[in-house]
Amino acid sequence: MKAPVFRKHLTEIRNAFPQPVSDPQHDSYFVFSILRALDRVDSMKSEVPILGKLQPLNYSTAEDAHVADEMSTLEIVSRNLVDELHGMPIWGHPRTQINVVPPTTIPSIIGSLLPAIYNPNLVSDDTAHAFELAEAKVVAMTAELIGYDRKLATGVFTFGGTGTTLYGVKIGIEKALPDAMVNGVGSNAVLISSKQSHYCRLNVAGWLGIGEKNVIAVPTSLRNEMHLESLESAAKQAIESGKRIVAIIATMGTTDAFGIDDLGAIVALRDQLVEDYDLDYVPHVHADAVIGWAWSVFRDYDFEENDLGFRPRTVRALAGATNYISKLHLADSVGIDFHKTGFAPYISSLFLVKDAADVNRLVRGREQMPYLFQTGERHPGVFTLETSRGAGGVLSAMANLQLFGKVGLRSLLGHLVEMAELLREHLDGHTNTTVLNHENFGTVTLFRVYPDGVDTWKIKDRERTDESAKDELLAHNEYNRRIFHHLHDQALQGKGVRISMTDCYRHTEYGEPIVALKSYMLSPFIEEEHVELLVSSVLKAREAISHDD
Ligand SMILES: *Cc1c(COP(=O)(O)O)cnc(C)c1O
Repeated sequence: MKAPVFRKHLTEIRNAFPQPVSDPQHDSYFVFSILRALDRVDSMKSEVPILGKLQPLNYSTAEDAHVADEMSTLEIVSRNLVDELHGMPIWGHPRTQINVVPPTTIPSIIGSLLPAIYNPNLVSDDTAHAFELAEAKVVAMTAELIGYDRKLATGVFTFGGTGTTLYGVKIGIEKALPDAMVNGVGSNAVLISSKQSHYCRLNVAGWLGIGEKNVIAVPTSLRNEMHLESLESAAKQAIESGKRIVAIIATMGTTDAFGIDDLGAIVALRDQLVEDYDLDYVPHVHADAVIGWAWSVFRDYDFEENDLGFRPRTVRALAGATNYISKLHLADSVGIDFHKTGFAPYISSLFLVKDAADVNRLVRGREQMPYLFQTGERHPGVFTLETSRGAGGVLSAMANLQLFGKVGLRSLLGHLVEMAELLREHLDGHTNTTVLNHENFGTVTLFRVYPDGVDTWKIKDRERTDESAKDELLAHNEYNRRIFHHLHDQALQGKGVRISMTDCYRHTEYGEPIVALKSYMLSPFIEEEHVELLVSSVLKAREAISHDD
């Protein structure tokens, strides 16, 4: 009897899976397939900081895509997949200084790959087995790193930095409005964070039912940190008008400027409010440290001894940031992105809670999930928002924590801060460029470029404070946009460095946005020559633009 047709297809399909039982010949086919894909990608690299050719994104062709009748092959599909990489920025390229997107280490890539093959689901140790243990280990390692008591703390990986803030605020809701999980939030909730905090505060407020309009955005000082007196008066006003503060978000490293809130003072203020108003709940303090957490590796670095040999300016910058970051353990919960300053692939975000008992507030009745959790011990699924959770983020984070240790991360961050400081030195040395976030000590530098004849010593403050300078501010905003576009075009031709621009690094005192050019250094391959290249291409862009006029 002839075998039915589908059996032929089934054979091909089986070939496209890793073999369940050791088959060395097929294993090498698997490995070789990955190797060939990577080989093809390698041929897309050049001096230009993108892969392959930059083609315009043609969505109308994309919208014509459909599922074919016939099967394809691993070889063809793999080639097609590699084609999708055309135009992708190479984050690790020393001529890429775009945003807070890191290049990823090889161990962290392997950390993503292994779970992709064996497919654990972190909902429970029934489905994840030792991967659940890996999550517990990374939680313990990171908790200790930031100064939490790891016996008391717990945590889970979630769907991004936004997810970590969502978890923190959700716990805060349950503290301020007990049983909101059952009854809903009502209209009394307010959420407080700084004007410079990440916009995800609005997503979180909207999605959790607090409402965007109930987010209080506290002004920041010129250091881009929450202004404490404004925080105090905002909090008092909220309490006195009968509102309940579901959470105060402290931003430990703002996205554009690397401003860091004074967490110690915020927690002290919170405690004082609880006492003064005899509150029947304790407003939750969540630290959005998705960027800043990594500086925790310097908590026990002896800056006086400076064994690693950083330059004095770098030591000052590292110590300045560490001074703030070392307060992280005071927060009730903390958000950490390994896919930012941890050099892991997306998504690798960890939500940590100081007191594990806090997550009990999120547990739903076990009877609602009868088919899960029949065996095993660790069941984050009883309180996580997610049901399925992949383990790629966990293993990538673990890979990098092991690879770097404290010394590796200190050396890498230290180098990047050193390069950022060097850039600032150069920008300060020219009459037509000025650094905006001098008081923030990260690897990000915000700066503005001015046409001839502008006094860059005075203009910065005048534009920010004096409404009569509004026209100049707006003209210079436009000027910086043009500089940016010029730099961008040049970078894509392999000349100069690709940087970013922010439309509003902060507002002027009269409410206008201040545009800034932004160099975000995360590539370990950046050297002094690339810093000089950036500065010289900025100066060339000035000339090119004045010729256009
Ligand atoms: C990037 C960022 C977020 C959002 O994190 P995702 O991982 O992109 O979801 C939140 N807060 C700050 C300060 C950030 O920089």
